[in-house]
Amino acid sequence: MSENIDKTKCLIIGSGPAGYTAAIYTSRADLKPILYQGMQPGGQLTITTDVENYPGYPEGVSGPVMMEEFLKQASRFGADIRWGSITDVDVSQYPFVAKADDGKTIIAETIIIATGASARWLGIESETKFSGHGVSACATCDGFFYKGKVVAVIGGGDTAAEEASYLAHLCKKVYLVHRRGELRASKAMQNKVFNTPNIEMVWNNLPIEIVGTEQGFMKAVNGVILKNTVNGEETKLDIDGIFIAIGHKPNSELFAGKLELHPNGYIKTEPGSTKTSVPGVFAAGDIQDFYYRQATTAAGTGCMAAIDAEKFLCS
Ligand code: NAP
Repeated sequence: MSENIDKTKCLIIGSGPAGYTAAIYTSRADLKPILYQGMQPGGQLTITTDVENYPGYPEGVSGPVMMEEFLKQASRFGADIRWGSITDVDVSQYPFVAKADDGKTIIAETIIIATGASARWLGIESETKFSGHGVSACATCDGFFYKGKVVAVIGGGDTAAEEASYLAHLCKKVYLVHRRGELRASKAMQNKVFNTPNIEMVWNNLPIEIVGTEQGFMKAVNGVILKNTVNGEETKLDIDGIFIAIGHKPNSELFAGKLELHPNGYIKTEPGSTKTSVPGVFAAGDIQDFYYRQATTAAGTGCMAAIDAEKFLCS
């Protein structure tokens, strides 16, 4: 066989908790999986600080360290884990054919897609500067660090409303900052927000700068400068943390037109399984989940995808 063609029973695309868990299970089932890590090895958890809600880590663990441990565990059972990305997939022929950016062609009997989703960011410089030091995109992951404090949530959809409601249980005060004068969130979520006494709506405002203190590696947010979208007025809101909740983007570009997607771009799976619209192709983790979006649920569906792939090969 040519040096540039590899054959596998299972190609795993993506390296968050879903991809690595699928690699642990498929390698233990002797499917000799090949896993391409993608652009951000370890996925979204590598941009969070401490993960305190993943079972098995009673003292919490840093996101990057946890992903390193997932990787080591998958490697221990022989998964072929590769740095690089899959750039093209053909699922119209069987076995499936994928191309990687290292020049390899992979011929795969099953594919597990675990390419995840990426949080949308505002795109302002100070957001990057304070990322993980007062700027977060996940209240469930990081809300605990703001117990009794004052935070702002940015956005007007269901995610922002949900994040604000969650944070209101922990924080002294939550400002929900939206760029328009009405929320996009469902009526039920809107009612919840409006009826929570420590959530204050800040209408028609957009963050233009996040401010804080910096001492070497130690950084802390202490405010956000907002610009009124109606009259252009600038104001400063004093806060301890800011949660960006302006949506997520599924990393599904590679599969558009090849697999059935939901209208919002996430891959459709059969309820209760990880089967996609193409037999032999499975999806796990955030790429097929716009509801739970947790590391724990991603790992769970990674395990399901591995078992589904094994069953497919035996059928
Ligand atoms: P979304 O519905 O797309 O809402 C994104 C919000 O962010 C919008 O209010 C938008 O403002 C705002 N936004 C976008 N870009 C912005 C920017 N650059 N600066 C400031 N604001 C910006 O996203 P989502 O809330 O994540 O929801 C995604 C999907 O998941 C939806 O279908 C939602 O219903 C669903 N979901 C459901 C639940 C649930 O049922 N429990 C929970 C979470 C999410 P505009 O309104 O002005 O466009």
